[in-house]
Amino acid sequence: MAQTVFGRIVAGEIPADKLLENDDLIAIRDVNPQAPVHVLIIPKKPLIGISDASVSDNELLGKLLGAARDLAASLGLSTEGYRIVINNGASAGQSVPHLHLHLLGGRDFLWPPG
Ligand code: AMP
Repeated sequence: MAQTVFGRIVAGEIPADKLLENDDLIAIRDVNPQAPVHVLIIPKKPLIGISDASVSDNELLGKLLGAARDLAASLGLSTEGYRIVINNGASAGQSVPHLHLHLLGGRDFLWPPG
């Protein structure tokens, strides 16, 4: 599979504003933030999207969600609230074909989403 921009960030080939890194994932600030806090939680495993994850990836998926929860707390979002988003596929607006969670906070959000 061709390297995506996130694959290249994981590999250290291009820089990013990194908030967290462990064996399974990285968390970086989005270059085009849609809220005062906009962090991307990215697995090192190059899954294209959540629909490409299998049962054997369930532990990894849990770690991604747990990282989003912990980052939200450490960034002071827990009281006011925050949103976690996964865009999966073209209709959902996924632009980078490497699974990632968006953690958004610091403002009010509308529902339903656009
Ligand atoms: P999605 O549309 O769900 O695939 O989200 C992709 C996100 O990646 C967008 O919010 C982009 O702003 C963000 N993005 C693209 N390139 C970079 C980069 N080099 N560093 C940080 N965020 C990026």
